[in-house]
Amino acid sequence: MSFKCKIGLHSWDGCKCAECGKIRDAEHETSKDCGICSRCGRILEDRHDWSADCEKCSKCGKTVENQHSWAKDCEKCSKCGKVRENKHLMNEGICQVCRHGTFYDESDGTKYKTIKIGDQVMMAENLARRPTKGNYWVYENKESNKVQYGFLYDWEAARAIAPKGWHLPAKAEWESLYAFLGGEGKQVFEELRSGGSSGFESLFGGERFARGAFNSLGASAHYWSDTQEENKQVCQFKLGAYTETAGLEKADPDFGLSVRLFRNK
Ligand SMILES: [Zn+2]
Ligand SMILES: [Zn+2]
Ligand SMILES: [Zn+2]
Ligand SMILES: [Zn+2]
Ligand SMILES: [Zn+2]
Repeated sequence: MSFKCKIGLHSWDGCKCAECGKIRDAEHETSKDCGICSRCGRILEDRHDWSADCEKCSKCGKTVENQHSWAKDCEKCSKCGKVRENKHLMNEGICQVCRHGTFYDESDGTKYKTIKIGDQVMMAENLARRPTKGNYWVYENKESNKVQYGFLYDWEAARAIAPKGWHLPAKAEWESLYAFLGGEGKQVFEELRSGGSSGFESLFGGERFARGAFNSLGASAHYWSDTQEENKQVCQFKLGAYTETAGLEKADPDFGLSVRLFRNK
């Protein structure tokens, strides 16, 4: 060790002292591989970035195998979103492994992801099909909201919207879903929300009040049932992002709410 190094004045060349060889934990050279410094050879705790692709680091390009997560959906990795084809094991329109399927709407060519939860098959995305009667809206009339959240329908439109083989769920079907997922508001919320293990993938599409104001995008999800309650109110199924709970509530039939159709048994 030189005299200079003894008194603490190393001649740093990046991470390494050119005089004594001491390593400092800064400025490692990791452009070729995030996990090891090509200048000093130190193994670095995992600094790779696998968020865009579980099998290829977006910083250094290093590749690894068998890191995707296909358990939730055989054709879409739940960690990075990568898609692949022809991996489902289909039976009666539902994959026997991941419980997903697809509904193809012939009226406008839209494909909807479906999911089987318990003994019920339902849409795993909000409906965006034009109704033949009643009223419908896109949240704040923004096209991007249609793509993500589908349409908000009044009850008249919601009741008439289902194509052959599908229907607007009854209150009892929402109750049955709720019971299957544990029967407790917070737990049911966690299962149904986007990323939850049920595969329902609820987003918070908000609602439209009868007088025309849009409300609570990102804060709550509202789904029609076909069941009328007392005082001309209608049963809806609601998820609240801040209260973190899910359950049945009532809505005015003139409100604009989201629609998830259930498959006829
Ligand atoms: Zn030194
Ligand atoms: Zn280094
Ligand atoms: Zn890397
Ligand atoms: Zn992945
Ligand atoms: Zn599958």
